[in-house]
Amino acid sequence: MSETFIPVNTPVLDGNEADYLAECVRTGWISSEGPFIKRFEEAMAGAAGRRHGVAVTNGSVALDIAVHALGLEPGDEVIIPTFTIISCAAAVVRAGLVPVAVDCDPATWNMTIEGVEAALTSRTRAIMLVHIYGLPVDLNPILELARARGLKVIEDAAEMHGQTYRGVPCGSFGDVSTFSFYPNKHVTTGEGGMILTDDAALADRLQSLRNLCFQPQQRFIHEELGWNARMTNLQAALGVAQVERLPRTVELKRRIGRLYDEHLADVPGIRRPVARTNYADNIYWVYGVVLGDEVPFDAREAMRRLAAKGIGTRPFFWCMHEQPVLRRMGFMLNESHPNAEMIARRGFYLPSGLALTDDEIARSAQALKEILP
Ligand SMILES: *Cc1c(COP(=O)(O)O)cnc(C)c1O
Repeated sequence: MSETFIPVNTPVLDGNEADYLAECVRTGWISSEGPFIKRFEEAMAGAAGRRHGVAVTNGSVALDIAVHALGLEPGDEVIIPTFTIISCAAAVVRAGLVPVAVDCDPATWNMTIEGVEAALTSRTRAIMLVHIYGLPVDLNPILELARARGLKVIEDAAEMHGQTYRGVPCGSFGDVSTFSFYPNKHVTTGEGGMILTDDAALADRLQSLRNLCFQPQQRFIHEELGWNARMTNLQAALGVAQVERLPRTVELKRRIGRLYDEHLADVPGIRRPVARTNYADNIYWVYGVVLGDEVPFDAREAMRRLAAKGIGTRPFFWCMHEQPVLRRMGFMLNESHPNAEMIARRGFYLPSGLALTDDEIARSAQALKEILP
């Protein structure tokens, strides 16, 4: 093969990452003690206009701890989108709560107020807002409903670093808001996550939960079970450098989205991401496409054909209400959420990493055109 494989994601670490890491090694601060952790927490909280940031080992455990910390009662219901990553449902289930799934909008792929309203019951206690693939949820109607009913809000902003909703930063909207720093996110620490909140007591509780609930006075006597979810100073060093370059990252990601849009503008048989709504411009965490009804095969076949042409892709999320593990536990049985089911089967994303060259974007778009009937 003359041309090389284009991976679905390659991170870019060409700012102060190496310098800050070298500083950790030189000074010996490599554990979860060290100056970069506080700096990273403050940088992330500051960027979202929040008072407190609690750094943890990944975005999934950030959700686990965030949901746990809200102190809901066993059997309480938490509304989640069905079109999301398993981490969202897992956090709810592990806290002894009941996940209730809602469908998504077929164009923005995000949960909607209509879905949330239809899922409300007398046992609803919280809503988990998950922003999908670069566009935020249309928040205002849902936040209003949550306020009116006294529901807690968990905001999963794992794909939203640098994004805003009506000019206000994502990560600022939940009682607790979480981020992931996995390598395909706009800010990466290799593995990592963070929980943001404005509530000082809640922040103390989150810090205790991430550190095994050791007690200040009697370290090895525990009143509650926590996690060892401490981020290392090494990871935080990467994070500080990554936040420094976040505006540039968002700009580059938007440029990737724009180039794909130009290449694919007149291509029948695919639906492209929504570039802009009246509340946000897409930041293209990934550049997703959904096959139209007229295409006689599904995402799996499209991805197989693209791989044969040297193009890396990933499937869309698979619905929570169709997860064997959740169904076996008796959750979300006999439900149908047609929009999410359709995009889960017919959606996938193209190479979307920061390291993509214009030529690679053109090649990926060209390959997509060639595999369509
Ligand atoms: C990436 C992601 C997570 C999980 O984060 P990890 O750091 O990979 O555990 C959670 N929610 C959403 C929406 C994500 O995209």
